[in-house]
Amino acid sequence: MSLGIDDDQSDRNGAGSDLITGAISVAAILMFVGTGSSVLSKTLRHYLEGAAPADRTLVIALLLNVALILFGWRRHRGLSNEVRIRAAAEERAQMLASRDPLTGFLNRRSLAEEGAAMFVRGQKRRKAMAMMIIDLDHFKTVNDMHGHAVGDALLRAAAGEIAGAMPPIALTARLGGDEFACAFLFDPQHPDLIERIAEKLIAQMAQPFEAEGLRLHVSCSVGIARSDFDCQSVDSLMRSADIAMYVAKKSGRNRYAWFDHSMERELQTRNELENGLRTAIPRGEIVPYFEQQIDLQTGKLIGFEVLARWEHPTRGLISPELFIPIAEETGLIADMSLSLMHQAFTAARDWDSSLSLSVNISPVQLRDAWLAQKIIKVLTETRFPASRLEVEITESSLFDNLSLAQSIVGSLKNQGVRLALDDFGTGYSSLAHLRALPFDRIKIDKSFVISLNESADSAAIVNAIVSLGESLNLPITAEGVEDEAIAARLKALGCAKAQGWHYGKPLSVSGARRLLAERRLLVQAPVEPTIESELPVQRPDRMAG
Ligand code: C2E
Ligand code: CA
Ligand code: CA
Repeated sequence: MSLGIDDDQSDRNGAGSDLITGAISVAAILMFVGTGSSVLSKTLRHYLEGAAPADRTLVIALLLNVALILFGWRRHRGLSNEVRIRAAAEERAQMLASRDPLTGFLNRRSLAEEGAAMFVRGQKRRKAMAMMIIDLDHFKTVNDMHGHAVGDALLRAAAGEIAGAMPPIALTARLGGDEFACAFLFDPQHPDLIERIAEKLIAQMAQPFEAEGLRLHVSCSVGIARSDFDCQSVDSLMRSADIAMYVAKKSGRNRYAWFDHSMERELQTRNELENGLRTAIPRGEIVPYFEQQIDLQTGKLIGFEVLARWEHPTRGLISPELFIPIAEETGLIADMSLSLMHQAFTAARDWDSSLSLSVNISPVQLRDAWLAQKIIKVLTETRFPASRLEVEITESSLFDNLSLAQSIVGSLKNQGVRLALDDFGTGYSSLAHLRALPFDRIKIDKSFVISLNESADSAAIVNAIVSLGESLNLPITAEGVEDEAIAARLKALGCAKAQGWHYGKPLSVSGARRLLAERRLLVQAPVEPTIESELPVQRPDRMAG
């Protein structure tokens, strides 16, 4: 194994001097054999029989020979020691290079190598090869909440479970992060064996783990591909199992999915969305829609929540549930969100000054130390008053870097922007989170509100959140109000604001303008030129009322 240029150099130097040492030792031994016996016998005879002494020079040469032989022998011992140490180091380096140090599993590269050999073996023996990609669910949350030491302990424990669930001949690998892979050969007539392994593994992983004195709950999603149906190489087997794992995750986690070719088309669609999104933002295809927010006690319109929509040139309107996660993963969310705000604030310039706007801020955006400045810049450019803006964040925003989130929120609040905690009830719903940031209101997640009158559990949760809000002096907004009965119940509970389809579906810019014109909530816009901005602005055709 090559350990870099310096080692090559020292290797060459070492080999050269070894050769010289060897040659000297051999010459010394030859000389010793040639001269040694005559000098020794002469010297012995000189002492025993008083014969003439051996030639002095020869004696000195002989002693020198002995010294050289001793030197050669020591050097030989030194060298064999060195070789042993070097071999051990090389073995260790090989181990480190092929194994994941945390779990001792193979790493991605060596799985590909050993997997390829297994693939060939399988073909020879008429066996099929199964590849399982295993990804832990919610690992990131555990890591963020409890730190890396706990995260590492959990990964080691998970690796133990995986190794225990697999057949003894299986290759087990950690591909990175919380993603693992296992491969083994099986009888193609009996794929049920693989399902049993996957089921056992999933059941085991759903049990709480004990790590660093904590009880941790994770689960895993597994994607499985088989060589005889799906793929002609280990690479494509891994890719297929990965796609299947992604599908298992998307359909609710804590489950397995076999790969099938329709999944590939779905992935292709996702990739198309991702590529499309890159051009959609500068082209102004991502536009704000406006959902009415109502004061429950008076029934008056008090503002709108801004919701993203993708007006796709060929596919029509695309839901944010489809493209926001992609925008978050690709980092496009930051530009997208600022562009939406720019469009929404510009559109709202001639709306009645009593109307507020609520915008959704993704947890990804709260990792940007300049977020507050960027939002304030958009407010300044569009001359929209900060006091009429509310930002909505979810509890998951508080895990990543709370102190950064606190400083961003602090800057925004200094300007008069208000802060709402969105989707309360779905995540951790922790009092500590409510205290971590200076929230101005709580939004109850729509899943509880929609079922308020049908499910006793939902009613109990809504009740509890309303009383929590009262005791913390935080007004409550309920979203997902779909009918009058829900609105009446919320009003009786003392909920402050409501939004939902009962009041209307989200409206486009022109739809919102039409509604406001009917209600005489449009004012004469000041005819000042707006400051030029690099961000895409509303296209003129959408500005028309
Ligand atoms: P959210 O912030 O919880 O927004 C409320 C969602 O509930 C909206 O879905 C809205 O259309 C829907 N909704 C409102 N009233 C009702 C109702 O009565 N019944 C039902 N069943 N649904 C109702 P939408 O617009 O599809 O947005 C989905 C999610 O996408 C949002 O959930 C938010 O998390 C995200 N999102 C939307 N726009 C943005 C954005 O600009 N930035 C970020 N970061 N996320 C956004
Ligand atoms: Ca929201
Ligand atoms: Ca919400």
